[in-house]
Amino acid sequence: MAEARRKSPAPNQPLGVASGTRVRVMLPLPLEAGTYDYRVPEGMRAEPGHFVVVPLGPREAIGVVWDGEPDPALPARRLKNVQAVLDAPPMTESLRRFVEWVGAYTVTPPGAVLRMAMSAPAALEPAPAKAGWQLAPGAIREDLRLTPARRAVLDLLGPGDVRSGSDLAEAAGVSPGVVRGLADAGILVPALLPKGAAFPLPDPDHPGPTLAADQAAAAEALRAKVAAHAFGVTLLTGVTGSGKTEVYLDAVAQALREGRQALVLLPEIALSAQWLERFRRRFGVDPALWHSELSSRTRRDTWRAVAEGEAPVVVGARSALFLPFPDLGLLVVDEEHETAFKQEDGVIYHARDMAVVRARLAQAACVLVSATPSLETLTNAETGRYDHLHLKERHGSAGLPAVETIDLRRDTPERGRFLSPKLIEAVKDTLARGEQAMLFLNRRGYAPLTLCRACGHRLRCPNCTSWLVEHRAQRRLQCHHCGHAEPLPRFCPECNAEGSLTPVGPGVERVLEEVEALFPDARRIVMASDTIPGPAAATAAAEAIAARQVDLIIGTQIVAKGWHFPHLTLVGVVDADLGLAGGDLRAAERTLQLLHQVSGRAGRAEAPGKVLLQTFSPDHPVMRALVSGDVAAFMAEEAAGRRPGHWPPFGRLAALIVSSEDEQEADRAARDLG
Ligand code: ADP
Ligand code: ZN
Repeated sequence: MAEARRKSPAPNQPLGVASGTRVRVMLPLPLEAGTYDYRVPEGMRAEPGHFVVVPLGPREAIGVVWDGEPDPALPARRLKNVQAVLDAPPMTESLRRFVEWVGAYTVTPPGAVLRMAMSAPAALEPAPAKAGWQLAPGAIREDLRLTPARRAVLDLLGPGDVRSGSDLAEAAGVSPGVVRGLADAGILVPALLPKGAAFPLPDPDHPGPTLAADQAAAAEALRAKVAAHAFGVTLLTGVTGSGKTEVYLDAVAQALREGRQALVLLPEIALSAQWLERFRRRFGVDPALWHSELSSRTRRDTWRAVAEGEAPVVVGARSALFLPFPDLGLLVVDEEHETAFKQEDGVIYHARDMAVVRARLAQAACVLVSATPSLETLTNAETGRYDHLHLKERHGSAGLPAVETIDLRRDTPERGRFLSPKLIEAVKDTLARGEQAMLFLNRRGYAPLTLCRACGHRLRCPNCTSWLVEHRAQRRLQCHHCGHAEPLPRFCPECNAEGSLTPVGPGVERVLEEVEALFPDARRIVMASDTIPGPAAATAAAEAIAARQVDLIIGTQIVAKGWHFPHLTLVGVVDADLGLAGGDLRAAERTLQLLHQVSGRAGRAEAPGKVLLQTFSPDHPVMRALVSGDVAAFMAEEAAGRRPGHWPPFGRLAALIVSSEDEQEADRAARDLG
């Protein structure tokens, strides 16, 4: 480990801590013990929050000096020395309490949570200063004869100015060789570049849109919350397109005016190009981004800038909750009902719930935003734990789309097809008017099941027994649970019949095939995670749609996200019942949320929108709520159904997963547990 980055005593060291004492140090490892005691050598100062290097067995590790008393009974000879205190902003007390809280709540060793709060270890070293050039003292003499190119470079540098070589060459319009030539001639000498602000300050008073009356009232309430510098949770609701985003961006502006930081959590940051565009329009600059796909360098720079208070606004995925904000003033969770906020591996946590805790510990305002809030959040609003602001109408002239069901029992698609005559007719009319249509089916691939017509055998994943999904474009079968893939077999693996394997049910690829036959002239795009693998593809797709280079969009749940497609007027849901089956407590609630969000894509500009839901159960409460638009009544019914049995949010539910190589053993263990 480089000596240069170690500093002792620590920077900004408050006085009053005796050296030569003991401290507790938490390590970013899943250790049950939580913290270990170390000795602080004479002359070193280590305070709670400081990042320190300590010996750990044969290695060294970076940990955080934790609060609390070291064990006095531990004999001094067993203690090892803290080796160094790192020159990084200390972890704030509020983040330390958060790490402990999350650990206790999720039954995870706190060190495993700490690891999430130390996700950019390189940021604990100060960023290396970059080299540039400045004028050598006394280099400019009257008698110096210079080429015009060299003159152009020197004209850019006043006394004491330092600029990078590439910057100088570009600004002077010369080749980099000219700068090097000046350096070789001793006219320019190397110097360190001043540290530039990596994240420009968003301007809270940059002219934004004029808010409608109810938007303005909601924005004012939120601004007051932020200005209060106190914890409080506000639920912001309103139909899709009612302008909730503009309202909470006003709260972000207030946090900036207060000189505090703001964090906005989005469920699918990779698909948020349109959101970022709006941020840019509102504030004139880009926010700092935080998600798993950042380069390690951006990661380090962003983490460090957040810790030093130099990234005023961060937009991120759930992991951004663990960034080291020194002064968080506002925390927004957009689409708070989204399941993407739940982390299902490693430390299992729900980012929406943890956001509330993070805000409380930081004395920050918390805003939960959704058109269809979760029952958990609604219940908290109803009992008065959260404040509630509601926007009643869509912004501008756009009305809400008309939602109708198509009863598949009566309006049956042709054999082997999945679009009913009514839906086909509606798509035809939409395209004839020069408008765009979207067909939504939350299933990737060609067909969710392949079975043998000869013996009835169903093709299952050898690892996890779920059905294998045919992906016809790649001529493969895939397991969407474990990722197993294999080529599509010619013979049935059970009865050896040839050519007897038949696809059953639709995926988006199969809907595409049907659409190709029905509307050969329509320009089509499929939006699914395998066709839109990342932010660049998502942006390109959104731009093509906005520019009307596409007539028909066929997509999985990624089309439901906050897109604003002004020319899209028809949304057809191919299988509205999908998602209602299964034992999940929240199956109905989630289906409603997803379909409501998809419906919200239709008719966002002047032309009215229409939504058609293909279903076998048009009387299901979810369908009725979508048709009537009365989501509140549906949620009240959901609550009434859950309350008597103490189901969440009226009680708590824990899932225990028993796993074993041996089925019987797992069975036995589960029974014993029961
Ligand atoms: P929501 O978040 O509730 O779905 P948005 O904030 O995305 O709604 O607003 C929907 C559309 O209306 C967006 O294109 C947005 O730019 C526009 N919009 C919202 N409020 C205003 C306003 N006050 N002035 C102009 N355009 C607005
Ligand atoms: Zn599998």
